[in-house]
Amino acid sequence: MKIYISADIEGVTGVTHWDETEKEKPDYNEFREQMTAEVVAACEGALNAGATEIWVKDAHDTGRNIIASKLPREVRLIRGWSGHPFSMVQELDHAFHGAIMIGYHSRAGSDGSPLAHTMARGITHVKINERYASEFLLYAYTAASVDVPLVFLSGDEGVCREAESLNPEITTVPVMRGMGGSTLSIHPKLAVERIRHEVERTVKEKKPACRIRLPDHFSVEVGFDTHAKAFRASFFPGVSLKEAHTVQFETDDYFEVLRAFLFIL
Ligand SMILES: [Zn+2]
Repeated sequence: MKIYISADIEGVTGVTHWDETEKEKPDYNEFREQMTAEVVAACEGALNAGATEIWVKDAHDTGRNIIASKLPREVRLIRGWSGHPFSMVQELDHAFHGAIMIGYHSRAGSDGSPLAHTMARGITHVKINERYASEFLLYAYTAASVDVPLVFLSGDEGVCREAESLNPEITTVPVMRGMGGSTLSIHPKLAVERIRHEVERTVKEKKPACRIRLPDHFSVEVGFDTHAKAFRASFFPGVSLKEAHTVQFETDDYFEVLRAFLFIL
């Protein structure tokens, strides 16, 4: 059994400030270690459930955060960014039996995390078919496009609620709640224990119900913090200005959504 794990850091237990997510800041090391610990826990849970091969995508910022030597030997680690539109789930294909998201966070335009955002910090919102989109939704749809069930997600309470509203069969472990510029977290070691236990349980069940139905058509809207960014994005083929700060486009092919995001977000 082959399992895919995509890991971000803003939804890792306790992460509250950008300084804790940026390599050059002294606060970063503690949270890089917790990100690694949560990914290790997910790997151990999947291995206990019978996984024989696990691919991990380090999907935050430089893509060079996870400490590779701490991962189990069955893991292959994808570091950096290839430039492929699959981005945070690069190399995911139909050969995987399940996908897992660790350290995911609330979307741009929401109050679920002090660090709420979708892809770039200059994006005020992303909507797909009138549904506000987080990075979770973008890559849950990507997994659906290659027919891989998304079985587990950990992160802040806001993104866990979003995952449950898309498909209640996805197992979630909320590790903290955002309140204004603050967070209320469970203990980092308890988060690791819960992730290990819940990943093991959910991968064992294999959860065919976790398949997400991909819409037949995509009506996409992206809001920017400056009109200049929206104006620039409006020149991507098929994209048009809706308002000064907002662009829109339509397609039936989800890969075209990802292709556009690669260039306009
Ligand atoms: Zn990130």
